Amino acid sequence: MGHVDTGKTKLLDKIRRTNVQEGEAGGITQQIGATFFPDIALQEQTKKVDPNFDLEVPGIMVIDTPGHESFNNLRKRGSSLCDLAILVIDIMHGLEPQTVESLELLKKRKCPFVIALNKIDVCYQNSKTYTCVREALDRQEQFVRDEFRQRYDKVVLQLNELGLNVALYWENDDYRRNISIVPTSALTGEGVPDLLYMLLYLAQTLMASKLEVEEELQCTVIEVKTIEGLGTTIDVILVNGTLREGDQIVLAGMDGPIVTTIRALLTPQPMKEMRVKNEYVHHAMINQSMGVKICAPGLDQAVAGTELQVVGPDDDLEELKDRTTWTTSSTASSTALRSRPRACTSRPARWARWRPSCASCRTDMKIPVFDVGIGEVFKKDVKKAMIMKEKKHPEYAVMLCFDVKVNREAMEQAKTDGVQIFTADIIYHLFDKFTAYMEKHKE
Ligand code: GDP
Ligand code: MG
Repeated sequence: MGHVDTGKTKLLDKIRRTNVQEGEAGGITQQIGATFFPDIALQEQTKKVDPNFDLEVPGIMVIDTPGHESFNNLRKRGSSLCDLAILVIDIMHGLEPQTVESLELLKKRKCPFVIALNKIDVCYQNSKTYTCVREALDRQEQFVRDEFRQRYDKVVLQLNELGLNVALYWENDDYRRNISIVPTSALTGEGVPDLLYMLLYLAQTLMASKLEVEEELQCTVIEVKTIEGLGTTIDVILVNGTLREGDQIVLAGMDGPIVTTIRALLTPQPMKEMRVKNEYVHHAMINQSMGVKICAPGLDQAVAGTELQVVGPDDDLEELKDRTTWTTSSTASSTALRSRPRACTSRPARWARWRPSCASCRTDMKIPVFDVGIGEVFKKDVKKAMIMKEKKHPEYAVMLCFDVKVNREAMEQAKTDGVQIFTADIIYHLFDKFTAYMEKHKE
């Protein structure tokens, strides 16, 4: 996770190439949205950091940030998609808005994580690929080490200000209390062995009891993508359980649960670039942790970040459908009015983030959403929200305005009509404001 351009994808790329550069110790498989590193591919790297390290897990699956929108929805009930997260920070930029956002999310989900302080090569003078970072640091001239320290200290201070205790991983004497920082370069690969080592170390020491195989299906939609020739497909991470071609599945959609049948289960060709068309391998069945592309009709409205369920022979379809909208919050009854999202031309990225959040409003929190729009908020929008005043739940005369301007006339109209307007640039803050408002209303 992390801000855009901090080097998340490049870092994963670099990890993927560790063994390509060092002969065929491989077995690394690239999947949809994920990469699996088997133990033998990792051994080589961990040895560089600690020759005595005993690898006890069969491998790790690393998921690249599936577009930020999914994470908004990953506030799942019960278990979570990731056991561990890597938060990537650009050493030259320090904390950026999405870094802070990611941190808040990790805290909320109580997900353990390490920080990769990336792009250290920018301060460096002499690099050697895939070396352990302490060695890499020792190799530098004093002034380079000073610059590194100076930048490092600045980031630490920023993190401290957010209430986080952090330490360089080799100076960290309490992994439960302090978050470890691993300096890395996705360009040279320095620090990559250390990052892998830390992930494995944490997995084996802090979470050993949580690592087990379960039969029950756990499958999360990470992306909804339209692919030429395939139509709208969903990329999922299968954590536990089995998926089969022909399975009837249920998943959350923008306008309620989607029930459909799996037409194809696809993964990329071994080590081929997965963005290339027609390069997929078809599977009749998949029953191991894996990133998979699912083709099925009617997926246009699927919501990333939500759970997918398979309808078994003994399952009650209606019950499963209910479960997709099932929620722990009991904010209100689900009288969701149909939304009419307007055509979107400007800011597609932000919109893409907002849309699923809006769906999460409806499906998770069971808040009726009357209308969804994009762009500046005008008086006529307030008038529309005003309609709620005449309905059963006047408290829903609320407008959640994410990263848009609310024009002055609209503000005044809202004041006159008693329509609540909440604005925020960070989506979670918007929900926080709304939740606080609803809590107060309930009281
Ligand atoms: P993402 O948005 O976090 O996935 O970032 P990318 O992996 O796409 O990287 C963004 C840019 O930063 C690209 O131009 C990379 O080449 C560059 N970059 C990433 N990691 C490093 C690094 O460790 N050192 C340097 N010098 N550049 C990097
Ligand atoms: Mg990326």
